Formats: sequence, C-alpha cells, structure tokens
Amino acid sequence: MTVPVADERRTASPDETAALGEALAAALEPGDLLLLIGPLGAGKTRFVAGLARGLRARGRVRSPSFTLVNEYTGGRVPLYHLDLYRLAGADAWGLGLDEMRERGALAIEWGDRLPGSGRDAALTLAFAHAGGDDRTIAAHAKSGRGLALLERWRTLRTGAAA
Ligand code: ADP
Ligand code: MG
Repeated sequence: MTVPVADERRTASPDETAALGEALAAALEPGDLLLLIGPLGAGKTRFVAGLARGLRARGRVRSPSFTLVNEYTGGRVPLYHLDLYRLAGADAWGLGLDEMRERGALAIEWGDRLPGSGRDAALTLAFAHAGGDDRTIAAHAKSGRGLALLERWRTLRTGAAA
C-alpha cells in the first residue's frame, strides 16, 4: 500500500527544485528559519539558489560548506545561507544566528544539527533522492511562522513544468 506523505512535493530536475525555492521566497520575512535536511546531493543548495532568485538577491549561490555562512543581499529580504555539515556537536547558535535573524531570513543546510528550542518556529524541508533526477521534498512545522510558511508551501505554484 502506498501511503501519501502529507506536504510532500516531487521535482524531476534541478530547475524544478529551484523553482519551488523561488516561489517560497515570496513568503519570506526577516526572522524566518528554513531547516533543509537530507543527504548530500539531494538538492538543498539548488533550492537555496531558487530562494535567492525569488528574493532578487545579488550574486551567485554557492555551498557554504567551508565558509559556514553566505549572505545574499540586495534583494527584498537579506538571506543568510548556512551549512552545518562540518559543525556536528558544535553550538551553531554561536555563529550569530540571533543577529542574522533580526536582519533577514535563514536557510540552514543540515539544520537538524541546530540544537535547542530556537528552531521550534522553523519550516523544515526534508529532501530525499527518489530515483534518477527525481527528488522529494517534505515539509514539516511545529508552531508559529513555521506553520504559516507550511500553509504557503501547500499552495505554491511554480513556473516550471510539474
Ligand atoms: P545538496 O545541497 O543537498 O548537497 P545540491 O543542491 O548541491 O545538493 O546538489 C544537487 C545535485 O543534484 C546537483 O548536481 C543537481 O544538478 C542534481 N539534481 C538532479 N536532479 C535534481 C533535482 N530534482 N533537484 C535538485 N537537484 C537535482
Ligand atoms: Mg548543499
């Protein structure tokens, strides 16, 4: 029996994944927290490229694996892009997340490594490989802005062919 997973979207190309990010960007406000989880190559960074495009931010989105934080400015809302892959066990809040959150929206790859209750208001997006170029992206939220963003996720329309 196939059980449908609530709030899951499926994409068949990098462009479709970016288009979902581009569409969600219209809902982003300063303080918003997106936790992007799932294995390497699942499309988290592609999705952030779409977010930046949707915000009309300057510059190119690259994986912040080494720099830990990339900031994309010049758009409607500043976007902070983090990758906690190399931070297992460390206190990621020490990177200055609270200050970033006052200024802009945060998209955090490997965001499940973020400790504490500060992530309760996040929208979590779980990326998974689904064969070939197919990916699934399942959204979860517990409270506050996370639930509001989940509502937006449910009604996202993209320009890309579905
Ligand atoms: P992550 O940040 O999760 O490690 P990336 O976004 O850096 O993943 O890389 C995803 C890789 O998978 C890219 O090389 C991209 O071209 C490829 N790809 C193939 N199909 C898809 C898809 N449907 N969505 C996103 N990326 C895809
Ligand atoms: Mg990545």
